[in-house]
Amino acid sequence: MRVEHRTNAAEQALTVAHNLLHPDRPRAFAPVPYFWTDQYDVRLQAYGHPRGHDEHVVVEGDLTQGRFLVAYRTGDRLSAVPAAGLPPRTLRPWREALATDTPWTATAAATASARSVAPHTTAPATHMEDA
Ligand SMILES: Cc1cc2nc3c(=O)[nH]c(=O)nc-3n(C[C@H](O)[C@H](O)[C@H](O)COP(=O)(O)OP(=O)(O)OC[C@H]3O[C@@H](n4cnc5c(N)ncnc54)[C@H](O)[C@@H]3O)c2cc1C
Repeated sequence: MRVEHRTNAAEQALTVAHNLLHPDRPRAFAPVPYFWTDQYDVRLQAYGHPRGHDEHVVVEGDLTQGRFLVAYRTGDRLSAVPAAGLPPRTLRPWREALATDTPWTATAAATASARSVAPHTTAPATHMEDA
């Protein structure tokens, strides 16, 4: 899959540099896709592939406030985590969950979904396009 975001370009360069310098310890290029963009005073970020999912759950914030974090489920896996108006550190634990292919049932999103406390739990209606 072609990913045209800055972080992906930088991570490719890091992998190439590592493999040139350490041919005895080559690393596969297997990033967790990420982008961020500042749109006026709102920072949009996403880890993973927010497309073709089966469910999404707002696990932090509120869509109406413009500050939120949404977990996407595809099959039995967490597949993406888009967010708006939140600092990067808020997403880091979710990046780790994606990097380790964490089952949905082991995420905070599953807890929110099971409790039905999330006000915006739905089947997929819209998909975030690449920035
Ligand atoms: C308007 C716009 C907004 C964007 N906003 C975001 C964003 O908010 N967040 C995000 O993550 N990504 C964003 N992107 C995407 C991001 O900029 C790119 O994914 C990233 O810059 C790609 O990096 P790169 O190093 O692969 O290519 P580039 O940054 O395009 O660098 C390629 C370089 O190679 C040089 N070059 C090309 N051909 C030759 C040649 N023959 N000889 C010598 N030099 C050459 C070019 O001059 C250029 O300097 C945006 C892109 C655009 C166009």
